[in-house]
Formats: sequence, C-alpha cells, structure tokens
Amino acid sequence: MNYTRFITAVSAARQTSPIRALTELMQKSPPSLISLAGGAPNPNTFPFQAASITIGDGTTVEIGKDLMKRALQYSASAGIPELLSWLKNLQKSLHNPPTVEYKPHEGQMEVCVTTGSQEGLCKVFEMLINPGDTILLDAPTYPGTLAALRPLGCNIINVPSDQHGIVPKGLKEILSRWSPEEAKKPNSNLPKFLYTIPNGGNPTGTSLTVDRKREIYQLAREYDFLIIEDDPYYFLQFNKPWAPTFLSMDIDGRVIRTDSFSKILSSGLRIGFLTGPKPLIDRVILHIQVSTMHTSTFTQIMIAQLLQQWGQKGFLEHVDSVIEFYRKQRDVMLNAADKWLKGLADWYIPSAGMFLWIKIEGVSDTHELIMKKALEKEVLLVPGSAFNINSFSPSSYVRASFSLSSPSQIDQGFQRLAELIKESVRVEKF
Ligand code: PMP
Repeated sequence: MNYTRFITAVSAARQTSPIRALTELMQKSPPSLISLAGGAPNPNTFPFQAASITIGDGTTVEIGKDLMKRALQYSASAGIPELLSWLKNLQKSLHNPPTVEYKPHEGQMEVCVTTGSQEGLCKVFEMLINPGDTILLDAPTYPGTLAALRPLGCNIINVPSDQHGIVPKGLKEILSRWSPEEAKKPNSNLPKFLYTIPNGGNPTGTSLTVDRKREIYQLAREYDFLIIEDDPYYFLQFNKPWAPTFLSMDIDGRVIRTDSFSKILSSGLRIGFLTGPKPLIDRVILHIQVSTMHTSTFTQIMIAQLLQQWGQKGFLEHVDSVIEFYRKQRDVMLNAADKWLKGLADWYIPSAGMFLWIKIEGVSDTHELIMKKALEKEVLLVPGSAFNINSFSPSSYVRASFSLSSPSQIDQGFQRLAELIKESVRVEKF
C-alpha cells in the first residue's frame, strides 16, 4: 500500500524528537549503561513510594519501590514495552491479521497505547483529513467522533445502515459517483476512509455482520479507502463466537482499529490502543510525542501488571463476567421496554454494547421532549439528534443506556418515558 495519498501535509512533516528517541533507546538498554543524556527528573525525589492495589478476586497488584520509580517516570510514546508486547499478542490471538507477517514498510501490524481510544481516534483523524477531503461515516454515530471530525472541515457522506449496520449496496451506490481509477490520481476526491463502530454501535446498538464486513472490505480495496474500526464494545459482545473484525481480514494494511479498556477495566484510567499498518501508527506516535508525550506510565504499569498476572485466559474470563453483567442489564431493559413502550416505540435487540436505540412513534423530533419535558418527569435519555452529522436535523429516536441503572430504576424510567410519549403524541396530534 502506498499511504502517501492519505496523510496530511502536517502529519507528513512530523519528525521524531531527538530527546524522545533517546528515551526509547534508554528503555531498551542494559542497566550497566551510564546515561548522562536524559532530561528526566530524579524519581528518588518523588513522594510516592509503593502501592498495593486490591483486585476484585482478592489478589493484589503490587507496585514495589523500583517499579514505582519507573511508574512515576517519563516513558516511550508508543507505550511501555511489557504492555505493548502483551497487547500485540492479544491482537494476534483475537484477530491474527495477515499483516502480522508483513515487513514494516508493507504495512506490518503495529500497536500503540493511547490515552483512551478517543485520543487514538482524534489523532488518526488529524493524520488523515485535509479541509475538503471526503470521508464516509455510518451516522447516527458517537458524538465524540463527530466533534473531532467537524472542525477538520471534511465533507462527510452518510452511509445507509439498518439493524445489521452499514448496507453494502448503499455504500456501493455512493461510491459509484467515482471510478476506482480516480483513486490513483493525486488530487482525487475519493473518500479517504470509512469510519464505523462495528459492534454494539453507539448509539444504535447495532453490529455489522461478517458477510457485510467482507463486502465492505472488498469495496475498500476497489476504491482504495482506509477503514477505521472504532470498536470499544468488542469486548461487550453477548454472543460467541465473536464476529471476525475488519482487522482480521486486512490483507492490504488498510484497517486502523481503535480498542478501549474503558468498558472493561476502567474508563477513568484512560487507556486504549491503536492497531494498524506501521507507517500510519508511526505517524500517530510522532503526534503523541509532541502532545501527551505518552499515556500515564503509572496507568500503563498498573494495567500491565494486572494483565501479566491474569494472562490472556484470566483477562478473557474477566471480560466474560463483564459481558454477563451487561447481558442481564440488557434483558432487564428489554423487559421494561416490552412492558411500557409497546405500541409507543420500536427497537431492535442489541447484541453488544450498553445501549438501546428507541424510535418513538408519532414524535418527529425528540429534542424538545427530552430537553424540556423529560427532566420534569425525572427521567433522562439522549435525544437522537445528538448523534446526527448535523445535530440540528430532527430525530425521532432516543438512546437509553443500561449500564448504570438498577432494574427497578430502568423499569420506572421507562414507565415515565411512556407517560411522556403519550402526553407528547397527544400534543403533536393536537
Ligand atoms: N468510540 C466510541 C464509539 C465510544 O462510544 C467511546 C466512549 N463512549 C469512545 C470511542 C471513547 O472511549 P475511550 O474511553 O476509550 O476514550
């Protein structure tokens, strides 16, 4: 793959900082090395000494004195080596993309740690988008993505989707505005990438089927666009086997995948990881070098210690227990929806994630319903328009989350929503 067409002038101009390069060298060097090079502070002056963090299963993560010194110190921008290698092994076991075997310049699979997947997404967008570029997106979608994209001045084309995600036929129709040959021209305005949330979409709860993924990947090859697979709900899939990912089918090195630990380990620790072709991930790492420098070393050490203790098996067992929690919550919400919202609203059963996407019958825009009247009734949901490319365009949907509320709160919440809908429909008809 030739990545030149995809990278903005700003991203292409990024160069490694000599000091950062030395930090990375020092991480790999033997303890006998005498370094007078670093500008790092002396960790002996730091107040924190050691930590013992209790895990739910009764075990502990111990950060002793030496490890604590590392945890409080600067570290490599791509991530600390033990976490990076754990994550690379995870990606090989779960996705095993063909790119694992490639040479670096051919698009070899590379991983880097990010401060939440949001940081990865934002930096990927900034690496790829020049004002006026065209991109493809299946909206309604995650507002964090829309907020990161809008200021970049790109032309966003909405790809049609249904309860199984993007409809390949609809995507093909959009792409037929161009000829595949145009992708080879230097200033072609062919879409640079397709952004999608393939599992338990936020807000729609939908998941893309594997057959559709294959068709979409073929279109990406034909029209030479990248695929950004934003998959924070991958580890919240309710049905096994988990769906094969775009990354797993990436023979060209055109998939950039964002993973997140926010839904399964902690959202506040801010940790995620990017996986994709080395030439592109390296550009993101250069951006990290000059912004956050790296994800908190303490966070990375804490996570790496836990993951090493658990091993992949223990990690996946933990993930299973999280899935069970969300499955029960989803079923509680579906029961409450059946009880209170039948005849007033429609929804599909989400097979992943933490959201139910509800279409309110007879209400053309839920914005007013939620922003003005819902609070009076003491129930809060997100109006569908918040997830539209143009947030002023109306939506008859609301997003309900089943992550935090208790079963009785969910039940009561939907009872209140039902009353609200009945009152509003009466008013709209009137
Ligand atoms: N992508 C999607 C689709 C999300 O729903 C979220 C979080 N709600 C993110 C990215 C960002 O997650 P993180 O906490 O990993 O930054």
